[in-house]
Amino acid sequence: MYNLLIKNARVIDGSGQPAEGLLDVAVQGDEIVNIDKNISSGAETIIDGSGKILTPGFVDIQNHSDAYWQLFDNPQLGSLITQGFTTILVGNCGASLAPLLSKDSLLPLQKWHNLEGINVNWQSFSEYIETLSRSPLACNVASLVGYATLRRGLVGDEIRRLEKNELEALKKILEESLDAGAFGLSSGLSYAHEIIISELELFELAKVLAKQKALFSIHLRSEGEEVVEALEEALDIARNTDVNLKISHLKVRGRQNWEKAPEVFNALDTAYHKGARVHFDAYPYETMWLPLYSYLPKWAMEGGRTLMLKNFSDAAQRNKLMAYLNTTGVKFSEMMVASTANKLNFVGKTLGQIAKNMEVSSEEAVLQLIQNGGSEVLVFEQNLDPTQVEEFVNHPLGFVATDGEGVGKNAASTLVHPRCFGTAPKFIKQSIASKKITLEEAIRKLTSGPAEKIGLKKRGQLKIGNFADMVLFNPQTITDKSTYQNPYQFSEGIEYVFVNGKPVVAKGAITGLLPGYTLRK
Ligand SMILES: [Zn+2]
Repeated sequence: MYNLLIKNARVIDGSGQPAEGLLDVAVQGDEIVNIDKNISSGAETIIDGSGKILTPGFVDIQNHSDAYWQLFDNPQLGSLITQGFTTILVGNCGASLAPLLSKDSLLPLQKWHNLEGINVNWQSFSEYIETLSRSPLACNVASLVGYATLRRGLVGDEIRRLEKNELEALKKILEESLDAGAFGLSSGLSYAHEIIISELELFELAKVLAKQKALFSIHLRSEGEEVVEALEEALDIARNTDVNLKISHLKVRGRQNWEKAPEVFNALDTAYHKGARVHFDAYPYETMWLPLYSYLPKWAMEGGRTLMLKNFSDAAQRNKLMAYLNTTGVKFSEMMVASTANKLNFVGKTLGQIAKNMEVSSEEAVLQLIQNGGSEVLVFEQNLDPTQVEEFVNHPLGFVATDGEGVGKNAASTLVHPRCFGTAPKFIKQSIASKKITLEEAIRKLTSGPAEKIGLKKRGQLKIGNFADMVLFNPQTITDKSTYQNPYQFSEGIEYVFVNGKPVVAKGAITGLLPGYTLRK
């Protein structure tokens, strides 16, 4: 007598190999214990998988549910589990919730979450993991260490190179965090406090990671004009240290830069074929979701928030900023405001509409919004080439990930990117329709691909002895529903999602169970 038996499903095991016929899959506790044709033993729960596809649970290698504080505020992570994600890797883009070396360590999170009223009862990575493992969660969570979190814990709001002893301290804390279960390090090199990080410093930390076979997740310094140079910098690190490198949310941003995509693919392929351990993740959307301040020139961000605001109030500097914004080629007027600091009520409006109400230019509205809303103003900008977006997600070195957060269905006063709700179903639906890659390959990009890259044990493939993280979906009806104006809509066609043998989604609805584990490397 098994706990769970799924019968007559087409099993795509996550390896990328062609599915063979219809199979039954049996689960005991949190483990897959049998996969065979016509298993005759009974089970407490039997699910008819006819006409459905059974796959391993999806692994979101690029997730920010920690930075948005959802792990604690919203452990259900509804928008993620309803699209089939059963494991998420958080701590991305330079920001993690540990280790906290000083009160400044959490500052990198400001981009994503208002820190007022937040309470933490941990300092080290090990204490954080302990806390996390005591808090119930719908899916499994693994975490990286954020570079900015580490660095700002040491140097606070200062933006400068590290002294030798500081670099040594950083390496030591990284090592301790890896020992405590962190899966690697992430950096957000385009952000104000990480622009200053030298290639040499990156090398030093990459060596620590390589020694421990841990992941280095890099959000490139540039995804636009200097994307090729930025990618080469990251590839250099992989080539020279043999670190396990993953480029975060890879893309070529801005119409004027789209012609650089072939160079990007070429650099990746060449590095990979010469032995660099490089992969990347991408999301299947043409619109980016990012802080408005990130459109400012590098020189305006280099001094951090204080200096940035000083630049705004100095007439000459402000003119220089306006001149820059006028020549970027970015269509600011078409951008939509997704969220702002609480006092501003611009959500869902375009910058063009906001500017018209203020009776100023869209560029002037950009400066005023940043001035009043700071790093909390997030916008949507449609600036990616649809053909390239498809090429990135379909590329053999690419994984598909949300770069988003787990949220519930209750519409908040802010908009989230639809990728938080629809990434996996949108990608699967697209793969089935376009036939550009096989469905088996599409599933690999969501399962064993990212699981192996992260170094997850017994997850990412449907096989006997592995954890019973599984998704049962209908290939005819699977679809995303979330839109930019109305993002809070769950995907459809995903009928069952099991995390460690327990259903978090059953008959298409959230069950409320919280069976996720906190994973340690
Ligand atoms: Zn990022």
